[in-house]
Amino acid sequence: MLIVMNHNATQADVEAVNRTVKEMGYTAAPIPGSERTAIGVLGNHGYVDDTTILELPGVQRVIHVSKPYKLVSRDFHPEDTIVDVSGVRVGQGCRPVMVAGPCAVESEEQIIKTALFVKKMGADMLRGGAFKPRTGPHTFQGLRGEGLKLLARAGKESGLPIVTEVMSPDNVGLVAEYADLLQIGARNMQNFDLLREVGRIRKPVLLKRGMSATIEEFLAAAEYILAEGNEQVILCERGIRTYETATRNTLDLAVAPLIKELSHLPVMVDPSHATGKRSLVPPMALAALVAGSHGVLVEVHPEPEKALSDGPQSLTFPGFEQLMEEMRRLVAFLGYE
Ligand code: PEP
Ligand code: MN
Repeated sequence: MLIVMNHNATQADVEAVNRTVKEMGYTAAPIPGSERTAIGVLGNHGYVDDTTILELPGVQRVIHVSKPYKLVSRDFHPEDTIVDVSGVRVGQGCRPVMVAGPCAVESEEQIIKTALFVKKMGADMLRGGAFKPRTGPHTFQGLRGEGLKLLARAGKESGLPIVTEVMSPDNVGLVAEYADLLQIGARNMQNFDLLREVGRIRKPVLLKRGMSATIEEFLAAAEYILAEGNEQVILCERGIRTYETATRNTLDLAVAPLIKELSHLPVMVDPSHATGKRSLVPPMALAALVAGSHGVLVEVHPEPEKALSDGPQSLTFPGFEQLMEEMRRLVAFLGYE
């Protein structure tokens, strides 16, 4: 960390900063300049909380050299992490995976029909929300516990591992009994108690990027999970809020290769929530694979026009079949089996 002083800071200001740095247990290394003094902070083994320093007179700004995440970073852990979801391997060098299913589990018929269909088309995992984080309270909130049971039945009948969202720390135990991969949704990316709780279980976690989160915040959120001892984390880009309203969110596709530079964790892309529009899902799913994503997550519904949530972005069965055919060709072209 580097502390930059104002050009009119006094010697007493500089000394006060030196003293505070020492009190924090670090070494202060003043670097006098012709215009202003800077003070290097040495001896830290990670990110330093700068709040006390920024309060001191004469301090202009603090430049962080260390990142707010360490366990997640490639500097600290150069080898790629492969996440194993009940036998389906996700990560660098593995064939990209397809996670498919409805936004929400709505009925036994709906989820089983979808599970069997996506499995037949070659999907690797089944998704479906039982606990739904809806914008308002008057819309369908999910079948909750009953939804988990239906999902488990669909997983068993199709042989697909299941992915479902957990919204509160209290439900982590319950959801972990059913899910092969626990999803933390965009709205909960910074629910730190929830992140800690999924960090304590021994099941993989799919962490979705918050809709206004920077990459640094996204990786710092993943750090909470790893810090509790769970390294089985997949990061998922699902679009961010921008000024654009023609699509539901703006798909930030550069995140896939960027995360691979910054972190050892696998990265996936969700073109359904990113675009909000069925016709845009297949091209963006293919683009995600070209950009190096380790997999994609798409919403599929037997009757999207009747879906209780996210119908407009859900692929129809024929639409999914066609996407799987295109994915197969692309995956072969990219050199996977
Ligand atoms: C979902 O996957 O259904 C979902 C709610 O996603 P997100 O958290 O990305 O909005
Ligand atoms: Mn959805």
